[in-house]
Amino acid sequence: MPAKTKSSPIIIEQQYTKYMEKGRDFINDDLIWEQLKSQVKPDPQLVRDLIAKSLDIQTLQPEETAALLNVEDPQLWEEMSEAAGKIKRKVYDNRIVFFAPLYCSNYCINNCLYCSFRKDYQQETRRRLSMEEIKAEIEVLAGKMGHKRLISVYGEHPKSDARYIAKTLETIYSMKVPTRKGFGEIRRVNINAAPMSIQDFKLLKEVGIGTYQVFHETYHHQTYNQVHPQGTIKNNYPWRLYTHHRALEAGVDDVALGVLFGLYHWRFEVMGLVYHALELENNFGGIGPHTISFPRLQPAAGAPLTENSQYKVSDEDFKKLIVVIRLSVPYTGMILTAREPADIRKEVIPLGVTQTDASTRIGLGAYSESYNQQEANRQQFLLGDTREMDEVIRELAEMGYITSFCTAGYRCGRTGDHIMKLLKCGKEGHFCKINAILTYREWLDDFASEQTREVGEKLIVKEIQEVKQQMPQVYDTMMKYYHRISKGERDLYF
Ligand code: SF4
Repeated sequence: MPAKTKSSPIIIEQQYTKYMEKGRDFINDDLIWEQLKSQVKPDPQLVRDLIAKSLDIQTLQPEETAALLNVEDPQLWEEMSEAAGKIKRKVYDNRIVFFAPLYCSNYCINNCLYCSFRKDYQQETRRRLSMEEIKAEIEVLAGKMGHKRLISVYGEHPKSDARYIAKTLETIYSMKVPTRKGFGEIRRVNINAAPMSIQDFKLLKEVGIGTYQVFHETYHHQTYNQVHPQGTIKNNYPWRLYTHHRALEAGVDDVALGVLFGLYHWRFEVMGLVYHALELENNFGGIGPHTISFPRLQPAAGAPLTENSQYKVSDEDFKKLIVVIRLSVPYTGMILTAREPADIRKEVIPLGVTQTDASTRIGLGAYSESYNQQEANRQQFLLGDTREMDEVIRELAEMGYITSFCTAGYRCGRTGDHIMKLLKCGKEGHFCKINAILTYREWLDDFASEQTREVGEKLIVKEIQEVKQQMPQVYDTMMKYYHRISKGERDLYF
């Protein structure tokens, strides 16, 4: 058993130092700034060549991303935005996958200056959901809203260690809840939890962890040290930076990256994400991030930094960073959350977003308790879009997007390097289109309002026609499944 550091019983140095070169991690702050400065006003032809490379679903190199980040010409930005939407459609078609965050515990031993769960914020009511409380949450999430996929969230604390996380996963997967016509269940639980050891990841793998998500928050070393005070576990930059390596090493199939935009220069952070994606691809046979998240700093009780950071990202820059991430890592899923207000969500979804949430409750136990009132002293930050899921799904249908609750790919082994190959060649889209239709049928029958159903039925007819034309070989089987689902059967997939 490798030794843990003297300062922490959790951090195991050997599990990250082995990936470092001469004691250095793969984020070189000076080099990133040099690359950003050397690419000022890039040649339009270079930019168009890079767009073509992205459309070919190839990851860009950091200096190429730096060139895109430095584009000033509005015409070129327009071309880049259009390409971002095209790439998304090429890899993921017109689907938007829905998920729900489930906050399980807000105990935390860290002290991040932007978070209401930080240990020094005494007004925060601390709570860890019991298994009975988790069941009550799933009754609502799976039985009343129709979610099939969760991201369960935990602060870093002995009360929410890997054993607790494993227990929550087992509890969530064990539930089946009656609905209007069939039953609801959570079929995929992704987790957002503190960096852990290879041994802990193995435990979570055994109980069916989906994607392991952890955000590096900021890749800039100095800022990282400032916002994650010394003496906390989170202050250890490389322990966090290499947590995805450990997860993959332990056999977890999919890992997810993210940055909290607003802690440091957004262009630098995009470069950090690209370096991180390439580092994973290079070390793990081409497996890059399954998704990338790009939350912006939001006001949070007890966290003044969220109000006065000098690096807050404007709406204009937010759109730009989404476009550049989409072009730089063209195969990855991109997650936009309800942190953002409705109007911004509507504007940026066409830029390449693949996953989102709605009807979100980020208070502990808040799905099953008060639906309408978010309690400020139990949540990590404030949400920008509090619309109900039914309304958001209807709006997406009106925009031409089908909401997908598909989780089949994971259960058919389309994960890790297998999914990466399918994504990069555009084939995953075929399975997903069919499974989107089947899960949309389930959701329309079990959960949609009359108004949403009306819009959804038109969309589903159009989707079925497309399958008939594009994939005639699977059409008959799909329709058999479709009719069985219409009669109340559930969870039929390709
Ligand atoms: Fe704890 Fe995460 Fe909040 Fe930091 S961001 S205080 S680690 S819950």
